Amino acid sequence: MDHPDRIALSRRGFLGMAAGGMALAGTGAPARAQKIPTSARIVILGAGAAGTTMARRLVERLDGATITIVDARKRHLYQPGFTLIAAGLKPANYAVSSTAEWLPKGVEWIEEAAAEIDPEANRIVTAGGKTVAYDFLILATGLKLDWDAVEGFDMNLVGTNGIGAVYAGPEQAAATWGAMNRFTDEGGKAVFFRPATEMKCAGAPLKYTFLTDDYARRKGSRGRVEVHYHAHAGALFSVPIVNEKVRMLFDDRGVKTQYNHVIKAIDPGKKILTFATPEGDIETDYDFTNVIPPMVAPDVLRNSPLPWQGGPWINEGWAEVNQETMRHVRYPNVFAVGDCAGVPKGKTAASVKWQVPVAEDHLIADIEDRLSPATYNGYTSCPMITRVGRAMLIEFDYKNNLVESFPGVIAPLEELWISWLMKEVALKATYNAMLRGKA
Ligand SMILES: Cc1cc2nc3c(=O)[nH]c(=O)nc-3n(C[C@H](O)[C@H](O)[C@H](O)COP(=O)(O)OP(=O)(O)OC[C@H]3O[C@@H](n4cnc5c(N)ncnc54)[C@H](O)[C@@H]3O)c2cc1C
Repeated sequence: MDHPDRIALSRRGFLGMAAGGMALAGTGAPARAQKIPTSARIVILGAGAAGTTMARRLVERLDGATITIVDARKRHLYQPGFTLIAAGLKPANYAVSSTAEWLPKGVEWIEEAAAEIDPEANRIVTAGGKTVAYDFLILATGLKLDWDAVEGFDMNLVGTNGIGAVYAGPEQAAATWGAMNRFTDEGGKAVFFRPATEMKCAGAPLKYTFLTDDYARRKGSRGRVEVHYHAHAGALFSVPIVNEKVRMLFDDRGVKTQYNHVIKAIDPGKKILTFATPEGDIETDYDFTNVIPPMVAPDVLRNSPLPWQGGPWINEGWAEVNQETMRHVRYPNVFAVGDCAGVPKGKTAASVKWQVPVAEDHLIADIEDRLSPATYNGYTSCPMITRVGRAMLIEFDYKNNLVESFPGVIAPLEELWISWLMKEVALKATYNAMLRGKA
């Protein structure tokens, strides 16, 4: 592929810079100090991006702590890779490694799910009935994809009947590519949407819409393809300036947009999607779709006393934490990081990079009996793919300010090859460095 705007950068320089992409913005914790002696018992629920990063960093900073991580999942999934798999650019195993390989020495892994959290008694109970007491608890359980909330959806059908499900996992992302590849050969009507709940990587549904349009153009079938995007609310993206840019690009590319359409049901036999709208339910036919279900906190968190007790997330179950410190508002020895945290932005791996050091420093400050100055400013980043070989590196904070990690090099609202490389090449290296506590 010819890239006229290629910027001359050595691979090493580029990767170093990309690591900065998840590292330059935000308000960080103070520099590392010597190991701190402690006998604290720290339990981490979840060994995904946030839990593994936290475990690694705590092992490196504490001496004598008992650190236990609880997670039944044997596979570590690099989820940002799912979009690339679903675009036929990477194989399914690109996103798969093992949980064990990332966990540092000095951490005990209980290979079970946590079933119960009792923050009054400072203990958790595993699915197998094991009770583990803690002095500090880190919630890092990610979120639950609520497939049952899309009536008629059947995971076994992904890859058939024009059904894609990029979020479901690497195998389903690969099956989605099969369906998208066939669709863009044959033509028809593609209908895309996102759920009305909070969600991880809110840019991903838009990216897949752009990619489907792009494949149809490359194959010369765009004239036989209709592309529709049904937004759950009155905008395509929560940051107004980004919303406007995406709206203009969708207009340019002939993507037809509908607003205030919330997915309710799919009929795979008849190929019909049902959306709730302010005017009542509407049905629309499709030949290809990417089902993205509502997202909620995992049951173990939802069924505990730890979620928000009121406000917009009352039904979603996210942990009630202070948005600057990631510390639980009612249980100060509990922190939440990653997707399960009840903060207004930040359900991305890029946010994990900035949340974990803040929570870590507050926890260690408690051990040292000092106050931590570390704060998280809501930094999140979304390499918004707009076609194969081009993306916009969109980074923003709680206030919807665009935060540029590379001012003068990467303009956030321009479709650039270098921003594409951030997603396609550098993000995984940066993510892996984060898991090792190096980014
Ligand atoms: C399609 C897609 C594209 C994305 N693209 C990007 C991107 O471009 N850039 C970006 O920064 N981010 C992206 N993300 C988001 C990113 O992957 C997540 O935000 C990140 O993985 C969150 O980390 P986490 O640790 O909170 O959750 P996860 O990494 O999901 O880990 C959660 C862990 O908790 C475990 N768990 C669940 N329940 C329990 C329980 N009861 N007990 C114990 N353990 C439990 C799970 O087994 C899992 O191992 C994307 C995600 C998807 C799905």
